[in-house]
Amino acid sequence: MAQRILLPAGEFLFRQGEAGDCAYIVERGRIEIRGLRSGSEVLLNVLGPGVMLGELAVIDSGTRTASALAVEDTELIVVTREQLSDRIVRADPVLGLVVRQILGHLRREIHDPPPIVPEETLTLDRMRLEGDLSGAVARGEFESWYQPVVDLEARSIAGFEALIRWRHPTRGLVSPATFVPLAEDSGLIVSIGHWMLQEACRALRRVDEVCGHDRTFMCVNVSCRQLEAPGYARQVAQVLTAEGVAPGRVHLEVTEGLLITSPAAREALHACKQVGVRLSLDDFGTGYSSLAYLNELPFDLIKIDRSFAPKLVGDGQGPKLVRAMLGLAELLDRGAITEGIETAEQRDALRALGGRLCQGFYFARPAPLPVALGLLAAPDALAYA
Ligand code: C2E
Ligand code: CA
Ligand code: CA
Repeated sequence: MAQRILLPAGEFLFRQGEAGDCAYIVERGRIEIRGLRSGSEVLLNVLGPGVMLGELAVIDSGTRTASALAVEDTELIVVTREQLSDRIVRADPVLGLVVRQILGHLRREIHDPPPIVPEETLTLDRMRLEGDLSGAVARGEFESWYQPVVDLEARSIAGFEALIRWRHPTRGLVSPATFVPLAEDSGLIVSIGHWMLQEACRALRRVDEVCGHDRTFMCVNVSCRQLEAPGYARQVAQVLTAEGVAPGRVHLEVTEGLLITSPAAREALHACKQVGVRLSLDDFGTGYSSLAYLNELPFDLIKIDRSFAPKLVGDGQGPKLVRAMLGLAELLDRGAITEGIETAEQRDALRALGGRLCQGFYFARPAPLPVALGLLAAPDALAYA
């Protein structure tokens, strides 16, 4: 229900320089807009029924650029910031930015330049990055890095996880946490993901050369958006054939996030299973539906989220939780990899719980392929014990 106010003739609604937190629509009566220009007060406008006033200050969080005085008894409808600004920005940050820019120009005409608000910088930054992203594959700006997955029992590298990096021409390395969501929104993740799978397969062949066997596996991250693209499983099969990699050696890692709402993604998972690749449920334990997914979808492995690793030590619920997840995986005949091991204590605690496969900074950080291959060549490079 809109709030209304009655302003008697001769009273100010607001004065120039005050902070503004709502706008008004004149229902009946008359409002004079007066402003200080070159030191003296001048009449700028007279507003009657149906006209909105004061909206500038609400949207760009600035101060009133003029004063508003009722020249008759006037009734006004109050429009709150919630109604005017938040809603626009929530609906679409880009639209919010556009609105603020336009109002900023208006304000500049009457007053000083508008202050830059932090969200605006973020939105602009996001738009710039989005633009840069579109040509990044063609310009060869992506790199595939590799982090070993270690086998605590065999004391060897069992596999690698391929992690994408973007070497931006001016910003340097950009984290996938920043650009993968942008690539998902724009659909560019489909071609980026295709490139990444090819790279990971090529890397796996180099790994085989160093190891002298073909038992090492390769984990590749896949976004839901890729799974939803028509023919995804067929493309995976094509890449594997072209690169000469047996499907069972590739783990496609999917984060549970949006899977449940997308039948197309679920179908693609089943189709990938038919191709013979292994499917891994990433960030296990962080979503609401981990168990349901494990039950309904053809996952071969879980990756216990890295947030559990620090909880492995100490006397909280952490060790019990990890033990339960490992037990569940075993019961359902699924594999388990624990992520984010950063200390010897965490490693030992995991081993004591029967955890065998894990990865983390303690063993090795993700690195370009030559560095990863170097780890294979030096068996004592990793701290298994
Ligand atoms: P993720 O799949 O959970 O990947 C593991 C992340 O944990 C990596 O971050 C890795 O660097 C980091 N990590 C590894 N060990 C440790 C540790 O001991 N401690 C801590 N704190 N972190 C550790 P990164 O490389 O920044 O990747 C972030 C996320 O970006 C990944 O999370 C994945 O969801 C996404 N991502 C990375 N590469 C790709 C890709 O090629 N395609 C898609 N769709 N997503 C990708
Ligand atoms: Ca992953
Ligand atoms: Ca993960």
